[in-house]
Amino acid sequence: MALTASGLGLSASAETSMESSYLEWPTYSGDDLELKVDNSGTHFTLWSPKAQSAEVYIYDSDRNTPAIDTLTMKRSENGTWRASVPEKLYGKFYTFSVTADGKKLAETPGIWAKAAGTNGLRAAIIDMSATDPEGWAQDKGPKLDHITDAVLYEMHHRDFSIDPSSGIVHKGKFLALTEPSTKSPQGASTGIDHLKELGVTHVHILPSYDYNSVDEANLQTNQYNWGYDPFNYNVPEGSYSTDPADPSARIREMKEMVKALHDAGIGVVMDVVYNHTADNDGSNFSLTAPGYFYRHKADGSYSDASGCGNETASERKQMRDFIVNSVKYWAKEYHIDGFRFDLMAIHDIETMNEVAAELKKINPSIFVYGEGWTAGDSPLPKEQRALKENVDKMTGIAVFSDDLRDAVKGHYSDAADRGFATGKPGNEETVKIGIVAATAHPQVDYSKGNNSKFAYAGAPTEIINYVSCHDDLTLTDKLAKSLPDATEAERKRAARLAQTIVFTSQGTPFMFAGEEVFRDKKGVHNSYKSPDSVNAIDWTLKTTNADQFEYYKNLIKLRREHPAFRMTTAEEIAHNIVFDKTTVPNIISYTIRNHANGDRWGEIKIIFNGSSENYTAKIPKGKWLVVARDGEIDPDGLGTCDGGKVAVEPVSALILAR
Ligand code: CA
Repeated sequence: MALTASGLGLSASAETSMESSYLEWPTYSGDDLELKVDNSGTHFTLWSPKAQSAEVYIYDSDRNTPAIDTLTMKRSENGTWRASVPEKLYGKFYTFSVTADGKKLAETPGIWAKAAGTNGLRAAIIDMSATDPEGWAQDKGPKLDHITDAVLYEMHHRDFSIDPSSGIVHKGKFLALTEPSTKSPQGASTGIDHLKELGVTHVHILPSYDYNSVDEANLQTNQYNWGYDPFNYNVPEGSYSTDPADPSARIREMKEMVKALHDAGIGVVMDVVYNHTADNDGSNFSLTAPGYFYRHKADGSYSDASGCGNETASERKQMRDFIVNSVKYWAKEYHIDGFRFDLMAIHDIETMNEVAAELKKINPSIFVYGEGWTAGDSPLPKEQRALKENVDKMTGIAVFSDDLRDAVKGHYSDAADRGFATGKPGNEETVKIGIVAATAHPQVDYSKGNNSKFAYAGAPTEIINYVSCHDDLTLTDKLAKSLPDATEAERKRAARLAQTIVFTSQGTPFMFAGEEVFRDKKGVHNSYKSPDSVNAIDWTLKTTNADQFEYYKNLIKLRREHPAFRMTTAEEIAHNIVFDKTTVPNIISYTIRNHANGDRWGEIKIIFNGSSENYTAKIPKGKWLVVARDGEIDPDGLGTCDGGKVAVEPVSALILAR
């Protein structure tokens, strides 16, 4: 026993020193990592400081063929290995193989492959400039002064276009978003025309780099995955291209998608998952420089703040540089307008600050937001994590507000739980936290917050408000499970109220694709690999639920036409938003005053009634424009009213302006 105890002690301290020894590895910041083709030939540079040897295999096809050449790499500066050939090897493929700790590791396309063949197994050598669509040099995303001016629409390529009712030719592909004039069987616009009609400013595409789970060699089997299992971070996913075996096709088609959206005035936000990899020892990180890119527990095993088996180590220079250079690459090569960081709190604050600062240098309109939490504990100290609660220690980073989300519709993990918009009292103060975007406000009592107990945001530009996303139940399913006795009309009404709270709140609104047509996912909350029958948006719903679509469209229009909903500082919010004192459960009543943020409306009165009772509001006398009432909305006005006693119908928003 004594021996075991002593052995454990030694082992733990040895592992601790192993973790700290990574900090002493030489690092390399050259822009020629892994592959560079120039007039003197093709050059390979691999960073792997502890490798004993390294080789490059050259292939003339993307899989199932023997190498046509093997290059022995020579040790070079700063932990790198190099090999060159005098020819430009365009059209060929390559892998690296490293020997470390006396063991020859499996082949890997490396971590900086920018093109790859089927399933990303071999990196490809192509002329990137030949992948640019016509007019690419002039292509630009929408200009944005503040993230709060964005309306974010989160979509999965396959959900959006795979259903026959989309009328789209390239179903489930990048090219789906390039097709104009597509229609549902009932003649409603789908695809990119639908996005324009709805009025969102940015699509946020679920992971679109090369991920692991879908077998690109068997696409006829209709596999589905969200894509949170990264494989090649700097290559587009092959299953979204029309030909995964052609390395140029996925690149060109993704650029065509970006350009078509940009031409429609819509920006592209990419969901990025640098926090973990699909595999542990078999990942491209591990096969390139074993150990270095991940955090470990004291016993040497992988730590797992992602809940997916491992977590990366952004605090180490070569990993931090990888993340920063990777997003810079997507911004420059693919003209990406924003990045959503999955489980962002696995990354450290310094890395996220560098990400935001470097992206702003490329294009000041680029913005960054992420999930300010982890899915498990991490060796990274809490004060260094890019947590929601630390958002004000970061610059140019926003976080999702779980406060508003759970308070409006009920807790995400308890399907039957209801929230403010579905009649459960006690959430009023937390909804108010959402309305002021988690900034300090004299009338908001943070001690009554359900999730956070302090004003963690220094500005509304740090907050993303939402009531549903790809994770957890769709709003439609959540309403079905939490309001089992309600009619569909009543649930649609609750959805309208919930989204009206999101879209009139300070911060940046975010919605899940298809909610505007009241799409569901058949009650499946974790549909990451569910079939199309669960995940696909049925576009006949756009006609069945035409009233819902009209409401969402007008709600988005209201927000985009009125800067009062898009203030940029905490001081403006504290000065311009005044809450009315009310102790009635499920009632929130407030005014946005002073032509806030340059709004043409001097005063906007907003009352949310999440109860099943009529509420009689006392409105100052005078001529008011009725913008929303009883489940209807129109930024140009539904009519006028003179103030005094005004009814706010159950489960609805009253919005008046003057
Ligand atoms: Ca893939």
